Amino acid sequence: MYQITEKGVTTMPDELKPCPFCGDVAEMYVTKHIPNGYDYTPRCTNPSCCGRLSKKYNLKETAEMQWNRRVENA
Ligand SMILES: [Zn+2]
Repeated sequence: MYQITEKGVTTMPDELKPCPFCGDVAEMYVTKHIPNGYDYTPRCTNPSCCGRLSKKYNLKETAEMQWNRRVENA
């Protein structure tokens, strides 16, 4: 389960692995994409982490997969 906050941030402790750079919790940043759908950006919750920037993805599943793959490759 995850929650969408007012800022459009979802946290998915079960689906996103911890940040490969600092080990902090990862979150999914969701941006509304007019007219249909959302952009999903997995990122680290540590504001000073060098690895928190990531690409946007159209699908939540793809974003999760790419983030988790990055964790495995780190
Ligand atoms: Zn980090």
